Amino acid sequence: MRQDRDHRIRRWTGAVLDLLFPPRCPFCDRLLKDGEEGICGECQPRLPWTRPERDERHSEFVDRCVSPLWYQGAVRDSFHRYKFDGCRDYAGVYAALMAQCAGDRLAGEYDLLTYVPLSAKRRRQRGYDQVRLLAEGMAPALGLPVTETLEKTRHTAAQSGLSDDGARRANVLGAYRVRDPEAVRGRRVLLADDVITTGATLSECARVLRTAGAASVVCVTFAQARAQQKGEAQEPPARRLLPDQEEIFLNSF
Ligand SMILES: [Zn+2]
Repeated sequence: MRQDRDHRIRRWTGAVLDLLFPPRCPFCDRLLKDGEEGICGECQPRLPWTRPERDERHSEFVDRCVSPLWYQGAVRDSFHRYKFDGCRDYAGVYAALMAQCAGDRLAGEYDLLTYVPLSAKRRRQRGYDQVRLLAEGMAPALGLPVTETLEKTRHTAAQSGLSDDGARRANVLGAYRVRDPEAVRGRRVLLADDVITTGATLSECARVLRTAGAASVVCVTFAQARAQQKGEAQEPPARRLLPDQEEIFLNSF
């Protein structure tokens, strides 16, 4: 009975919120039409979807890393609005895409859901942890609770200022620790992050999880940046950011 009532209240609240703040497509910002859910009908076929298996990444400590989307164009613009313009409600759509991607491509490869945390300083500055919101959004679809396994123990310099992969790896080396090794020992971990660029942060997190006894680590991110070819010019930022925002934006990669 109580569950029924709670369900009715949630539906009613959702309907009122939809009336006050009609849902918009997170990729083009247009109002969704009747029958459209999450992503509008125009963006759906045009988004830069990755291909299963062919477009996944891996590294020494990460068995597989999957992402539903490439980090470019409308995806990149949308992610900037999520991270800097207060569009926190995009987390629901992002998390649904990530949960579907992990469920389809990594089925049976994990039994614990966790995420890459911000430093305490960064969390205080921003007021929320944008990756935690994604993990929480994925949890019901994956049928797993979010377990806080990692802690960022020191503030790191912006990864953007470091051009080569080795420097990026060195920058995050030792920046994370496992809160409770007992909680990860023998577990097959699904580690969530927002965007993967060189993969240095995910690799470092996976390294400390494996060192603490995790049996394996697979990753899911909302989007992945294309690997940079040697000599290729860096893609210019989608829009100009204030210096502080730029630092925040790039530091978390
Ligand atoms: Zn759209």
